[in-house]
Amino acid sequence: MNFHILTTKSVKEFLLTIPNIKEFFDDDILVSQEIGDGNLNFVFIVKSQKDPTKALIVKQAVPYLRCAGKDFPLSRQRMSFEIRALQNYAKLVPSLAPKIYYEDEEMSLVVMQYLSEHIIFRKGLMKSNYYDNFAEHISIFLAHTLFYTSSLYLDSSQKRHFMDNFNANRELCKLTEDFVFTFPYMEHETNFIDENCLNEAKIFFSKMQFKRSVLSLKYKFMSQSDALLHGDLHTGSIMVNKKETFVIDPEFAFFGPFGFDIGALIANLINAYISHFYESGDKAYQEWILQTIKEIFEKFELKFLTLWDAQNESALITPNFIDAKTLSEFKKDFMKKVFQDSIGYAGCKMARRVFGIAGVEEIRGLKDANKRKEANLRALKTSVKLIENYENIENLDELMDIITKVQKNS
Ligand code: ADP
Ligand code: MG
Repeated sequence: MNFHILTTKSVKEFLLTIPNIKEFFDDDILVSQEIGDGNLNFVFIVKSQKDPTKALIVKQAVPYLRCAGKDFPLSRQRMSFEIRALQNYAKLVPSLAPKIYYEDEEMSLVVMQYLSEHIIFRKGLMKSNYYDNFAEHISIFLAHTLFYTSSLYLDSSQKRHFMDNFNANRELCKLTEDFVFTFPYMEHETNFIDENCLNEAKIFFSKMQFKRSVLSLKYKFMSQSDALLHGDLHTGSIMVNKKETFVIDPEFAFFGPFGFDIGALIANLINAYISHFYESGDKAYQEWILQTIKEIFEKFELKFLTLWDAQNESALITPNFIDAKTLSEFKKDFMKKVFQDSIGYAGCKMARRVFGIAGVEEIRGLKDANKRKEANLRALKTSVKLIENYENIENLDELMDIITKVQKNS
């Protein structure tokens, strides 16, 4: 079908033209609502009037930035990459991503499972909710999506063929290059600088060693095609309840460095940890966040290495090329670099939230101006330490020391 923008009315008619969805809803009368809270796209929920538990989500990309309006064009092709990434999740981690009912690259839309009993992880963290299965689930997501799309598993031609399906996600990669790695660290018209932090911003923008480290990370982001990334794995791209975890919104998907998704997730957990100093003061909850960060790293490494150990041949490894002992040393060094890169990317993903266009609700949304300033500065100091030191952080204890010991005036 030729592209046209759906409305709450036309989305219902559109769905009934799709046989398996018509079957899903039977002949029920449908009700629909637009619920998108994101910056980019439209998200509809469509339900059966007589049985509201029968419901689906329709997400459509439009050829502009939703939050900024029609004067800010952005190719709707981004939905094609979201669809392809979701299809990949359906194969690799089916219990950790919404089930897809219909996808249509021409219409730039996907119809998926409605997660009715789950909330956005960021909101759950702000409410001090405990999710004791989260580290286990997300480490499976990370290990499986990263390993199985990399040259450690695929053969050379499969990997390049796979990359072809994502290489054209140019506009969203450029958004990350600009809004994660560049503009938030310099005077720029898109920045949002809290009026209480003007001096601190000026000092921050002059930190040249910091910028040097950022350039290394940015360069790696632009050139190291390790695996298919989600590309925007913050706590707003994850929906949870006590039992289940679902990753949504992979429109930034592309082949990039292993550490980038892990770093994005860790950054947002550290921001949640910081916000609780100023919002709830709940030490036990902060401890749980720290424990979760540790577990994610530990479980990810274990799961990733288990997958790797089971694979004797790949684009990288030819049987009989190297002895077992040397290969095991290679893997150890390799995992250390992934750990260190994750820390560097966590730093960037935190730092960009301080003065950049897009803040995080748990810090930028703090109502008390002094608390907001302190939280912002603590996030900034932590991120600078992570970015300046990421290549020298040897283990989790050293990382935890940085996260917990950074003080307002250190
Ligand atoms: P955007 O790319 O525009 O940010 P998202 O994919 O993040 O859009 O979706 C926006 C919001 O819609 C989410 O924050 C969530 O509240 C809701 N949402 C998206 N997908 C689902 C789903 N499968 N089930 C329930 N709610 C969803
Ligand atoms: Mg999005």
